[in-house]
Formats: sequence, C-alpha cells, structure tokens
Amino acid sequence: MTTHSSVSPSSAHRWFNCPGSVRLCEDAPIPPGTFAQAEGSVAHSLGEAALKGRITGQALDKLVGTTKEHDGFDIPITQEMVDCVRLYVRTVWAEAKKLLVDIKENMFVEQQFFVRGPHEAVGVSAYGTCDCALSAMFRRLVVIDYKHGRGVGVDAEDNEQGLYYAVGATEVLGTDYDEVEIVIIQPRFDPESPVKRWLIPMTQLLEWRGKLHNAIIATTKEDAPLVLGDHCRWCPAAALCPARKKEAMDLVSITVDVVENRKIVEFTPVQISELLMNQSRIDDFFTAVGELALKSAENGIVIPGFKLVEKRGHRRWVSEQAVVDAVGPAAFGEPEVKSVAVLEKEYKQAGKREEFDALFANNIEIPANGNKLVRETQGGEAQESIRAFRESLVFVD
Ligand code: SF4
Repeated sequence: MTTHSSVSPSSAHRWFNCPGSVRLCEDAPIPPGTFAQAEGSVAHSLGEAALKGRITGQALDKLVGTTKEHDGFDIPITQEMVDCVRLYVRTVWAEAKKLLVDIKENMFVEQQFFVRGPHEAVGVSAYGTCDCALSAMFRRLVVIDYKHGRGVGVDAEDNEQGLYYAVGATEVLGTDYDEVEIVIIQPRFDPESPVKRWLIPMTQLLEWRGKLHNAIIATTKEDAPLVLGDHCRWCPAAALCPARKKEAMDLVSITVDVVENRKIVEFTPVQISELLMNQSRIDDFFTAVGELALKSAENGIVIPGFKLVEKRGHRRWVSEQAVVDAVGPAAFGEPEVKSVAVLEKEYKQAGKREEFDALFANNIEIPANGNKLVRETQGGEAQESIRAFRESLVFVD
C-alpha cells in the first residue's frame, strides 16, 4: 500500500492535538514534496538497504559523490549522509546484539503496522511504516525511528509517532513484553547526542493504546474542533484553516493598530515581546498561503494580481573545461585555508579527534559578532551587562 492513512503516525502529533485537522486535510491540496523530504527518503532507503543486507558499509562509502533521483529532486549522497545512515545502522545492530535479538526472525525493517480498534467500524484505517522494530528476548519491544532532518529536534519521551508504531507492532507480535523502548536517532540535529531513548512499562503502552483509539475516533466527529498550537506548523491544511485565518487576521489587526497608533520607541518591552511572538505565527500562516497560491497557479488557477514566472538559479558554466581551455590558470581561484569545522570533521572521520585538539586547540577562537535576540527557551548565555542594565530598569506597561 503506497497511500498514507489519514491518521498516520508521522502526523499523530497534529491530529492528537487538533482532531478537526483530519477532515480539513481531506480538502487541502497535496503539498509539493520538498528537497528535505526527498533527502530524508533517500537516507532512509540507504538505511533500509544496509539493515536488510543489500548493501555493505564499503558499498555505502562508494556512493558518496553520486546522486539519486527522488520525487523530482536530484539528491546528492554526501559523506555526511552516509555517516548519519551508518550511525543509524550501527545503533540498530548494537541494540539487537545487546538484547540478543534474532535478527532473522525478530527484526522488522520498514514494516507497515496496522492499529486495530473501534475506528475500523467507522471506516478509518490506521497504519504507518516503522523504520525498525526489535522484538527482544528478555521481553522488551524496541521501536527505532531515524530522523534525517536537522531543523527541529524530536524527543523520544511521549513521542506519539513511536508509541503508535509500538501499538501497531503489538498487533502482530502480541503484548507479552515487560517493557517498551522508543529510540529516536537524529544525528544532524544534535551530533553530540544523536540517540534519544525512552523506556516505559508495557502497562503504560496499553493505557496509551486506549488514548490512541479515542484520539482517532475524535477525528471522525462532525464537530471535531480545530485547535491551534505548535503542531499547525506542519499542517497541510494551514492555508485553508478558518481558525488559523482568524488568528492571523486578529494578530494582523492588533499589530496594525499598535503600529499605527504608537511610535515604535513608545512600545513597552511587553508590547515588543508580543509583537515578536506574533511575528512567527503570522509568517507561518502567510507562508502556507503562499504555498497554496503557488500550487493553485501551477494548476492553472489565476490568482489576481500575481503571475507565475520561472525561478532562475545562479549562473553557472555549461562546461568548466571550456573555461580552463580559454583562460588557463586564471580560471582558478586562490586556494583557501579550510575552516575549523571542515578540518575538524576530516580529523573526526579519520578517527583523529584527539590529534586535532592537540594541534589546534590554542589556535581556535570564537570572535564576538554583535548581539542577537533569541527566545528565552533557546540556548546561549544572557549577556551580563545587558541583563544587569535591564534589571536596573522599571518598565511601565
Ligand atoms: S492549521 Fe492548526 S488549527 Fe488549523 S487544522 Fe491545521 S492543525 Fe488544526
């Protein structure tokens, strides 16, 4: 089966929090695939081939520098991609070895799992494809999910997608386990700590199975609510959503009102904070509207005041050799000293991390480069001088 379930594991965070989104998504145009999605699919396919023994580690290395077409994108297979896939594969092998898993019988790679339940009586099919599941001796079920993305970190704890796969796996393998482990491998987001784990007793998974059934049924109700939240970011119906539209319009009108009636210098810190907080939500909404408009225009729908034009990339040589033939050495730029990051990566890959530190630790600096304002929840030390200055002020709203 190549279609996706309307209540798929990968979108579970959205429809758990916004049951009404499932109906709305039925009317939404299928969003165009992105380069990042295609890149993730290629990395997953390499991982699958390696775990199924169809490709060796050496053969993986030989793919570096080649490209693979996926969903209309030419995806380069880089050393980074191969290293990330290798980490995924090695983590699976290590887990299987540690737990004495019979990999022929009890390792399930890219396996589609169905969740049975009351939703089937109302015509809803709940299923998804799990990257890897291990049914271990010592009565442990392990669900492993590889994430190739680097943008948003994913936690193992309370991970709806992983729990969903685990419930699906128990439909095939039974529930005779003591514990369930959810493992998320996301090397590009957090290279220092790429593997996240969460171990729960089987009883907890069985309780969660009830929540899953209820959440799926909630999406089938006529009056299923539309609930705004961080999950809107990945919602295919974001541009059509009345709740999102109303929120964006309210925010725009509040913002316009504030901007028109006050000079920026008169804004209080609280108002500045509200405006900045609102900015990303308004941006996200209009990004979704822009994507919908592009898709509509590509399908022949006229968007008044706009036209479809071809996107142009940067200019490039048709033949680099012809340039070299024409101007000789002048065709080449000056060689540059490699950056800290590039050289460090090369030493790491060669297993010479300590040698790198010994050679260069005293020759690396991180220059100050001005200040930036980030959310309090983001990393980075607050500037002492600015914090002291701020604490010395009394703000009046
Ligand atoms: S945009 Fe948000 S509120 Fe609207 S349907 Fe999607 S998830 Fe629900």
